[in-house]
This record gives sequence, structure tokens and C-alpha cells, in this order.
Amino acid sequence: MITAGEMIKNGGLVAFPTETVYGLGADAFNPQAVERIYTAKGRPGDNPLILHVASPAVFFELAQNPPPYAAKLIEAFWPGALTLVVKKNANLPHWLGGHPSRQTDTIAIRMPANPVAQAIIASSGCVIAAPSANKAGTPSPTTANHVKDDFVSGEVDMIVDGGSVALGLESTVIDATSAEPAILRPGAVTGEMINATLGIDIFTVATAFSATNRDKASTSHGNDSAPCAPPRSPGMKYRHYAPKAPMTIIVGASENIAAYIKKECKTSDWQSVGILASSDFLYDFATGEKAKVLALGGTPKAAAQNLFAHLRTFDKLGVSEIYAEAIHGTGLGVAIMDRMLKAAEGRIIYV
Ligand code: AMP
Ligand code: MG
Repeated sequence: MITAGEMIKNGGLVAFPTETVYGLGADAFNPQAVERIYTAKGRPGDNPLILHVASPAVFFELAQNPPPYAAKLIEAFWPGALTLVVKKNANLPHWLGGHPSRQTDTIAIRMPANPVAQAIIASSGCVIAAPSANKAGTPSPTTANHVKDDFVSGEVDMIVDGGSVALGLESTVIDATSAEPAILRPGAVTGEMINATLGIDIFTVATAFSATNRDKASTSHGNDSAPCAPPRSPGMKYRHYAPKAPMTIIVGASENIAAYIKKECKTSDWQSVGILASSDFLYDFATGEKAKVLALGGTPKAAAQNLFAHLRTFDKLGVSEIYAEAIHGTGLGVAIMDRMLKAAEGRIIYV
């Protein structure tokens, strides 16, 4: 039987667990294999991929003069959920890291901590290009079954089942192309952790709201003429993580959130209302009304692990509207709220 590593070495597509979410991996230097990732996912060609490496040494071979803070971040957080976007070495294929028909000057690189991911990278002998193993726009997969739900046979050559992932949110993406780092996508390596390591006050590029504004602009004018500055991370401009039903995030006291849902929900059939509760109060309210309620979890860690799976469950339950109770936006909460805001396409209400 062929192993996952051999499959990738031979140009195949393998879905595998990482500590963040499941990835859909291919040999990053094989243009046909990389093109298949884009086709299978339905991923826009201008959204580049993260390159997964076996060691920091491979990062330093691929990156061109990375800034000194990159080495400090690698020392502190690798292997782990931190991706560094760097200028790429001139000797590399002009398309590496992106769609093979396009030119890229920068590449995003990460060394995952999950032992299954590490074993696959090592046994393939490849740098593995791997975005999340879901169809573009849907919630990222946190179990092998989520991957199976999204792809028909033939689109992916092998799915390696490593159980539920440890973190549940994609990696933190750092722009390391200039003297000052910036967070392009918040993740489990938080701004606070980076600040403590580098002794700085890192800037977070406003992902969720800018993505929403741009989506609206691009619907009416087309992407190229959208009147916004281009996003610093191409993935920021796309609809993401979205459940099928429209979702609204509500910020405020749980009692007020319950009252708002009761007043604003579009149907009198509570069975078709999905509620993502982070407080016991809202959970009990939703249970009492016989809505479809899922508990996000008592801690930010649990909420991160549950979020995408719950959004997929709402799809399966066939709810027609979803209301989500906001969580506190510090630490890991920044990343959770970022994904929730994208899933809600920016719909947020303060009560
Ligand atoms: P995914 O693999 O689906 O988690 O998405 C990878 C994320 O990394 C997307 O948001 C990409 O836009 C971002 N990314 C990958 N390569 C680059 C790059 N060279 N510059 C900026 N962002 C990047
Ligand atoms: Mg993705």
C-alpha cells in the first residue's frame, strides 16, 4: 500500500491533520499537483498557499534575507501555529507558493507541530503546499469526516484520519516582509504572545471588516475596480468559513441577546433557528424555545475547537438563520471573533 508521503512525492493530493485544521497537501514544487489543489477546492488563483516545511532550516533556504524577528518567532513558536510571509529566494520557481499560472514575490511558510503532519512531510521529502482541506468558502475541516463531506472521490487521492485537531482555527499569519511585523490573520499564537516575545506592540491588519467591505464592493463593481486598497493577504478578501444560513453575531448581555433573537428572528418555527451560545443563559433560553442550540464552550480553547464543527452541524440541521453570541475579543478570542465575523459576512449587532 502506498503511504501518504509517497502519494505526495508522486504528485498526489493528500488531506492530513495538522494542529490547526486539516490541510490538503501536494508537493509544492510540482505545478500540476499544486494546480489540482486549486481545482479541487474551487480556490481563486490569486489566493496563495502556505508551504509546510520539515524544519526551520528549510525556511532559511526558501526565504530571502528574513528580518531578525523572524528567527526569534521561529525559535519561540515552531513547530506550531505560526505562518511567516517572507520575500522568496530568487532561485525559486516564480510561481512557488501560489497558482502555477501566476508570479509571486513572497511565500508563506509554517512548520506544523502535529506528529502525523510532521511524519508526512518528512517521509515525502517535499515542501508541502497545503491550504485548508475544504471547498473554498466553507468552514475549515477539524475532522477527517469534514474533509469527506466536502470532496467527491477522485478530487483527493487520500485522506489521513488523525482524529479531531488540537486547536481548530487556522494558523496566525505574520507579514515578515519588512522591518516591522504585522498580523495578517489572527490565530492561536496571539498578538499578546508575539508582543511578549519581541517586546513590541504588533499591528493587526483589520481582517474581518475589511474583508466584508471589499466583498460588498466586489459584488457591485467586480474585483479589479473595487475602490479599496488591495488586501495585504489575498485570502482576506474572500467570503470564508460561512455556514449555508445567514449568520448574525450579537454583542451584549445574554438577556438582551435573547430578547433580540426573540424579536428579530424571521420565523415563528424555532426549529429552523440556529443559536450558537457561549453563555449558559442563552443556551437555556434557546433550549426553552426549542431552537437548534449548540454551546460554543466554556473556554476560548474549547470555543476555537468547536466553532467550525458547529457551523457545519447547522448546515446539516438545515437551519434557516443563525444567531451567535459574541465572545470577548482578547487573546485567542481575537482569532475566534475574526472567524465568526467572516462566517457572518460582517453582520454584527450590539444590544
Ligand atoms: P489557508 O491555507 O486556506 O489557511 O489560507 C492561507 C492564508 O495564507 C490565506 O489567507 C492566504 O491569503 C495567506 N497567504 C498565503 N501566502 C501568502 C503570501 N505570500 N502573502 C500574503 N498572504 C499569504
Ligand atoms: Mg482556508
